[in-house]
Amino acid sequence: MASQDFRLCIFCRELEPASTACPLVKKSQAETNQADFLGSEDQFNELSPLSPSDERLLKQLQDKPSSLCKRCTDYNPLRAFELAEPLPSGLLPEDDDGFRDYFLRLKASELDLGELGSLTLSASCPFCRLIYRIMPTKGIRPDTKGMRLTPYRAYVRHTGWEYLPEKTRAQSAIFLGLRHLSHIVHGIQVPLLFSDGEPGVRSPEMTGPAICLATEDTFPGRQEYNGRLVEPFVDFEFAKSGLDVCWKNHKEYCISTKPEELFTTKMIDVFERKVVPYPEGCEYVALSYIWGRVMPEEGALEKRTLPQTIEDSITVTRKLGKQYLWVDALCINQKPWKTLSVQEQAEKTQQLAMMDLIYQCAAVTLIALSGQDSNAGLCGVTRPREMQLQETINGRKLFTIPAVVEDEMAASTWDTRAWTFQEGMLSKRSLFFSDKQLGISCQRSGAPDAYDPSCYSHLSNRPMDSFRQLMNGFNLTDTNISVTNPQRILLYTGLIMDYTRRQMSRSSDSLNACLGLLSALQRRLFPSGFEWGLPLRELPLTLGWSHDWAFPEPKRLQKDSPPWDIARPQRREGFPSWSWCGWEGHVTFGQTSLQDGSLVTVGRGRGGREVTSDMVPEFVGCEGKRLTVNGYVCKFYIRTEPFSEAFLTKPGNEGEKPFGIVSERNFPHPYTLKTGEYEGLVVERLRHTQDGKFVKDTVYMIVLDWVQSQDGRGEVAERRTFVRVQSDVEFEKVKPVKRVVHLE
Ligand SMILES: [Zn+2]
Ligand SMILES: [Zn+2]
Ligand SMILES: [Zn+2]
Repeated sequence: MASQDFRLCIFCRELEPASTACPLVKKSQAETNQADFLGSEDQFNELSPLSPSDERLLKQLQDKPSSLCKRCTDYNPLRAFELAEPLPSGLLPEDDDGFRDYFLRLKASELDLGELGSLTLSASCPFCRLIYRIMPTKGIRPDTKGMRLTPYRAYVRHTGWEYLPEKTRAQSAIFLGLRHLSHIVHGIQVPLLFSDGEPGVRSPEMTGPAICLATEDTFPGRQEYNGRLVEPFVDFEFAKSGLDVCWKNHKEYCISTKPEELFTTKMIDVFERKVVPYPEGCEYVALSYIWGRVMPEEGALEKRTLPQTIEDSITVTRKLGKQYLWVDALCINQKPWKTLSVQEQAEKTQQLAMMDLIYQCAAVTLIALSGQDSNAGLCGVTRPREMQLQETINGRKLFTIPAVVEDEMAASTWDTRAWTFQEGMLSKRSLFFSDKQLGISCQRSGAPDAYDPSCYSHLSNRPMDSFRQLMNGFNLTDTNISVTNPQRILLYTGLIMDYTRRQMSRSSDSLNACLGLLSALQRRLFPSGFEWGLPLRELPLTLGWSHDWAFPEPKRLQKDSPPWDIARPQRREGFPSWSWCGWEGHVTFGQTSLQDGSLVTVGRGRGGREVTSDMVPEFVGCEGKRLTVNGYVCKFYIRTEPFSEAFLTKPGNEGEKPFGIVSERNFPHPYTLKTGEYEGLVVERLRHTQDGKFVKDTVYMIVLDWVQSQDGRGEVAERRTFVRVQSDVEFEKVKPVKRVVHLE
């Protein structure tokens, strides 16, 4: 059969005869007719990713006679590249007429793919093959409608494009990307974007894989910020020239001076292949990667049996013209903690606490984005990268470009791991190795090698406000940036919320994997330091963290478990119960007045109400796992039937008085706490008054369990959970008692 008789199936990712329907689609339609909707859903959740066999298939098809199919001939892709005039910046959705005009004009340059179950991508059509190559492998179903191939200006793919002059933007290349017009906001259709691996709204413009025209074949006035074809192996001259631009233009932002503390570190000499004490002031490269279950064996550096990612990073260090490399597996003692001597333990703790300096002071950090463990290697070093697809249409070359590096990062395992969080945050200059491209990123610029190299220098020196720099973990040591108290609190809570979402192989690393980040915060923003990850000396209110209701993921829940058993986080051994590091699970600070970082002592609520905060525990001391605070403690009773979590002052029917409503953590639903007696330590009371008159109290409490301390020092409290009480009776009615409490 000739290739025009075949169709490239976006669901099966293979060739199918054009005359018969896709078996997957047929099956799903049959199931939908039987109203077995849930059954048909799973098979489309994740389609097989593009594979080397995909690449071979497309190559074979290119060798056969090809011509545009009827649909692509009618659409005329070259016309879109030549004439499309995508959204002029400054046109706001409020400008109804302007927006309608724009959509009408754009429509002429768009290609509606119709219902995806009946989309035919012809194997013999070069443009169909390009579309096939950029179709998402997640988030599409046969009944998906309204997906369009749409032209846009390439500059929107770059972070900081807002700062490009209007004139440069108008010269920007045209890319064809996919967008999904199904989302309606304020009566106006807003593009819903598909990006590789992550369907959904990401930004008002496109970031996913796209089709572009080779620079030599572009139309006048449409050449800037174009894509380019990359080789299977990384061109290190490109990387070096990018880092040179940074060195010449943004030294004060992107290069850290090296403090004396670095003298205690070790480095790998990549020429001698041995671990050496840090040579004073040396330029070194750092590696950020995922270990998986792969550990280098004893002597692997000398024997050349290192995991591939570490071996590749040695190669890259040499190619970048540097002699020293820092890799945690080789430069920090990795023997089991219990087998270390007291001195070795102290050394290791010190090294972990200075990981902020190690990553901040590195000449560049290599980030291994692809793969699941340290055998994956740095893509494009010894393992070839995924090739872009190039096709010729009417004598002009078109090719695909991968999604932006940020999207690849968001979809990577690297981005889900606890250890890599601080490594990525703290590095000032990074090279991202994905299986499609190499991204260079520094404090002031960034671009992958799949774009024209001029992008990097053009986008250089984009202004960044200081708060954004801080939120991005940038310049945590830059003392020129002034930070307000709410900003500093938001930064801390934001980082912990992000960190606790990540996974780690060893529960014992719960705190270790962010010690570098906490050190950076302490050096610059929280001088009095942290107790088990909480800045309690300055902000005892941070005891009011709670687990997010969305953890653990619903699929991990037992179907028949009672309501109070759902989403019960697990404790981590060896850590105190009062710190987030003592538990598995995603933490939020969204409950108390830390929420907006304002620490309201007096604020204005709805309807002119005043809100005041009090009853926050005082920090007394912290010794080992034992935290001592002086705070308000009270007994209370919860009756789950017939109402949801009524908060009572007395048990039983005799004399019980409904006091308010209790909810656990930030659960959006009631019935998670059993009927019974509880004891709580108040973290904060927010009192709402109007014209000086009491309206209501909102009280946040840690629910305590009393246990005998292991060291025989009497009763200590453990944190069971976190609750909020809302009451239109004054909290004093519960008779809270101020006392010293030991928590463990
Ligand atoms: Zn199929
Ligand atoms: Zn076609
Ligand atoms: Zn730079």
